[in-house]
Amino acid sequence: MEKKEFYSFYRNIPKAEIHIHIEAVISKESIKKLYLKKNGTEFSDSSLEELFSYSDLNGFITAFLQVQDLFTEVSDFDLVFEDLKNYLLRNGIIHCEAFFAPSAFIKKGFSYKEMTKNFAKNIKKIKDETGITVWLSGDVSRTFGLENAENNFKMFSENPFEGFIGIGLGGAESKGPSRDFGPVFEKALAAGYHAVAHAGEDQGPQSIWDALKICHAQRIGHGISAIQDEKLMDFCAEKQIPFEVAPTSNVFTKKFVKSLSEHPFRAFFDRGMLVTLNTDDPLFFGVELLDEYWNAYSQMNFSHEELKQVILNSFKASFLSQIEKEKAISEVEKAWKNKK
Ligand SMILES: [Zn+2]
Repeated sequence: MEKKEFYSFYRNIPKAEIHIHIEAVISKESIKKLYLKKNGTEFSDSSLEELFSYSDLNGFITAFLQVQDLFTEVSDFDLVFEDLKNYLLRNGIIHCEAFFAPSAFIKKGFSYKEMTKNFAKNIKKIKDETGITVWLSGDVSRTFGLENAENNFKMFSENPFEGFIGIGLGGAESKGPSRDFGPVFEKALAAGYHAVAHAGEDQGPQSIWDALKICHAQRIGHGISAIQDEKLMDFCAEKQIPFEVAPTSNVFTKKFVKSLSEHPFRAFFDRGMLVTLNTDDPLFFGVELLDEYWNAYSQMNFSHEELKQVILNSFKASFLSQIEKEKAISEVEKAWKNKK
């Protein structure tokens, strides 16, 4: 199938995306608007290109911080959600489970309560306008230790909002090993929230074992170092532990893979693991969900039937109810029938 035909066909197949950070869905146009509002001068195209011309992790972090720095008030998130809505529509995503990381904004003086009011308003707006469901998990952050993570969870649970589903463990994996965060996962799960962890993105397979055995994480974000551990892959296949894989992000960070063709996504799939495709940070890695499916087709040798399975996996791995999952799966089957 040619690229153009591939994109137009796959756009019409309903999909879920379950690993994406909302701050990273903002568009360059919105960045320009925020810049103008904050500084009173235009952000030139060349400066914008320069900001996004990085090729390493430090450049990415600099750009990420610089974008966060442009937010001056809670209503700036309206732009993020408008961009998120357009992104979801462009990529044929009907259900999205995304992360938000409030810490940097709270440090700027934003009220968490006001932020969540804004999130709930925008989630409802997207649902009303498009029928797409957006659910959010708060990143408790692993970078500043367990106590900070527990305080974050306390703040989340004391200010629940429509669309809030649980916690994620993100941040620097080397600074905050999964094994240190068992207590915050225990609290979140006991309170009926969902709990997932980035693991095996930057650290070896032990980090994934710890996320599963100590934290009881319900899903693994990335998990690519599982390829180094046969027992772990067998365990995850047997238990059907969902993996939220984001190949382009992994190639960018260059920790375990240098190119898409050597990415373990193919090996995980062949092993019978419950793997899903995601973008992580679309703006910063210059990738959208349809691109990730195209990459799997054109560079990882995935057939259409296999990609259909990956799409079905995205719903199976989601936190939708069984009835909602079955409905979504039958919609995929229906749309798939149009395939020539
Ligand atoms: Zn992530």
